[in-house]
Amino acid sequence: MIIALTTIAFPSCKTEVKNQAIDRADMDLKANPAADFDQYANGGWKVNNPLPADKSRFGTFDKLRDTAEKQLQALFSKITSEKQEPGSLGQKIADMYNLGMDTVTIEKQGAEPLKPYLAEVAALKTMPEVQNYIATYHAAGNGPLFGFYGSSDDKNSNWVIAQLSQGGLGLSDRDYYTNEDPHSANIREEYVKHITKMFTLIGNDEALAASKATNVMALETRLAKASLTRLEQRDPVKTYNKKDLKGLIELAPNFDWNLFFNKVSLPNQNEINVGMPEFFKEVSKMMADVPVDDWKIYLEWNLINASAPYLSSAFVNQNFHFYGKVMSGQEKIRDRWKRVQGTVSNALSEAIGQLYVAEYFPPEAKVRMVKLVENLRIALGQRIDQLAWMSDETKKKAHEKLATINVKIGYPDKWRDYSGLEIKKDTYLDNVFRSWKFEAAYNYGKINKPVNRSEWFMPPQMVNAYYNPSMNEIVFPAAILQPPFFYLNSDDAVNYGAIGVVIGHEITHGFDDQGRKYDKEGNLNDWWTEDDSKRFEERTKILAKQYDQFVVLDTVHADGNLTLGENIADLGGLNIAYQAYQLASKETEPIDGFTPDQRFYLAYAHLWASNVRDKEILRLTKEDVHSLGRFRVLGPLRNLPAFYKAFNIKEGDYMYLPENERAVIW
Ligand SMILES: [Zn+2]
Repeated sequence: MIIALTTIAFPSCKTEVKNQAIDRADMDLKANPAADFDQYANGGWKVNNPLPADKSRFGTFDKLRDTAEKQLQALFSKITSEKQEPGSLGQKIADMYNLGMDTVTIEKQGAEPLKPYLAEVAALKTMPEVQNYIATYHAAGNGPLFGFYGSSDDKNSNWVIAQLSQGGLGLSDRDYYTNEDPHSANIREEYVKHITKMFTLIGNDEALAASKATNVMALETRLAKASLTRLEQRDPVKTYNKKDLKGLIELAPNFDWNLFFNKVSLPNQNEINVGMPEFFKEVSKMMADVPVDDWKIYLEWNLINASAPYLSSAFVNQNFHFYGKVMSGQEKIRDRWKRVQGTVSNALSEAIGQLYVAEYFPPEAKVRMVKLVENLRIALGQRIDQLAWMSDETKKKAHEKLATINVKIGYPDKWRDYSGLEIKKDTYLDNVFRSWKFEAAYNYGKINKPVNRSEWFMPPQMVNAYYNPSMNEIVFPAAILQPPFFYLNSDDAVNYGAIGVVIGHEITHGFDDQGRKYDKEGNLNDWWTEDDSKRFEERTKILAKQYDQFVVLDTVHADGNLTLGENIADLGGLNIAYQAYQLASKETEPIDGFTPDQRFYLAYAHLWASNVRDKEILRLTKEDVHSLGRFRVLGPLRNLPAFYKAFNIKEGDYMYLPENERAVIW
C-alpha cells in the first residue's frame, strides 16, 4: 500500500518559472476571502481555465499534465524519428508507439488481434480447465476474478509475501452493484448496455450479447456483495489475514491453489496474506455452483474489456462511451497520441523516466528540497512536543518514528532493467499484453525475498508524491518539483505554502488514522497508549464531521470518513509547513500587496484550483479517498488561527469555526 497525494496521477515536465508565483489573474479579488476562500484564491483561475471537452476534471495538476504530455511528446518524437538498435530501449519505445499510432492497420484488423485469445476461452470444457485458465492469466499479468501481487508483510516489513485481494469487477466500486440510489441504478443499466454492445462487436447477435451481459452482471454482483467497502478496506488490521497454503485451501477449498501457485512460479507458497477472506470464501462457493458456461462468458468479457483500448475505433469509442462519458461526464476522447504515449509510458516507465530526468530535472532542485524536508521534520518534532493531548510515552515513540522517516527525491539511484521486455512488430494488443506479463513477472519475482528499499513506486515523470507506511518513507518524483508546487527562485512563503505543505502532508500520513498503526520499522504494531489512541480518535471525529457537512452537488455530501486520512494529512501538512516557515524565514515585506503569511495560504489554495463535471464529482465522492479540490482548500483552512489572522477572518464568517468545533491533531 502506498498513500498518494492525489489519486489521479499524471506525468509532467518543467515549466517556465514565473517571477510572480501568486498571480492576481488567478484570483477573484471581488470575492470575500472570509466567506469563500476557494473563490477568492482560485475564482479567476476557474474562469480562465474552463473544462476542455476531453476532460472530466481540470485542475492545477491536470494543467501540469498537459505541459508534461507535450514535453514527453518531444522525447518520443526524437526517439521515433531516429534509427534504433534492435533490442535497445529506443527500439522498444519506438516500435510500441508506432504500432499504437498505425490506425490504418488497427482499423483493418478490427477484432482480429483478440480472436486467438477468445479461442482459448471457447476451448474450455471443465472447471479444472477454467481454473487453469484463471491461473495462467494471473501469470500473464491480466488475471481475472481477484487481485494477486507481491508486497511486504505488514508485520514483517523487511520481507515480501504473496497478497490476495478482492477484484474481478468491471465497475470501479462494489457499491455501484448494491446501492439503491438512482445514480447507481442508472450506472448498472448503462453497464449492461455497454457489455451487450461489446459482445456484438466480437460478432455475437443482439440477443446472445444481451443474455451474456445479464450473465456477467449477475456474476459480478455476487463478487461485489462479498467485497469490502472502500471504507472497510482502509483498516489495515482488518485486511491482514496471513495464511499458509493449507490455511488458504481450508478457507477457499474449491479453487486449486496448488495449481495457481505453480502457474505463477511460486510452488508451495506458504506466506499469503488474504486481504478479504469473505470474498475468497464466496469465490470458492462460486467455483462449485456457477456452471462452466457462465464462467466462460465472464472470462470472455474480461478479455474484451481489458483489450478494448488497444483495438479498432469501434471498441475504443464504445469503451470511452461508458468509462469516459457515462461514468465521468467526459465529452470527447483524448487525442490518440496522448493515449498511446501513456500506454508506452506505463510499459517502460523508468526507461522513459531516465530520459525525462536528464532533460528536465535540475540538480539544484534536489538540494533545496533536502533542506525543506529537514526543516519540516524539525517543525513536526516541535509540534509533537507541544501537543497537549498526547502522553510523554507516546510522544517518545512518535519522535522515533519521525526521525526514522526515509526521504527520496527526484528519481531512483538505480534504474529498472527492461532487457527482458520483448516488443515485436506484430500487433499493438500483443505488445500491451507482453508488457503486462513482464510487469507481473517483475512483481512476482519479489515474493519470498527481502524488500528492496531503493525501489520507487512512482516514476519520476509523475506529478504526485507518496508516503509508504511499510518503508516509513516519503517520496517526491522529479515532476512535482516545479511550479506551482516548487519554485527554485521564488520567496520562501510560496515554497512553504505549496511544496512545503505537500511534504508536510506526506509526513503526516505516517501519523494519520491508517499510518499511525505502523511503527518506525514499518510494521503494523500498535505503539500508542490506549488513552492516546482514544484522544486521537476523538479529534479525528471532529474533522470527519466537518467534511460530512460539505455539500458536493445538490443533496450529496462529502464522505468525511472515507477521506479522513487525506484530510488529516492536509491539515497536518499546513500546520507543519507554517511552523517550519516561521522557523526558517526572515521574510516580512509584502510582495505585490500580499504579506508573507497571505502568500503562504494563497500558494496552498492555488494547488487545488479546479473545475469538475457533475458526473465526475459524484464518481470521485464515491471512489476517491481525497477530498475534491475545493474542499482541500476550505476544509483545513477553517481550522487554522494563523489563517484567520492573515486574512482577518472573524467570528460569524464562513471560514471561521468556533474553537470547540476546530480540529487540532498534529
Ligand atoms: Zn495524501
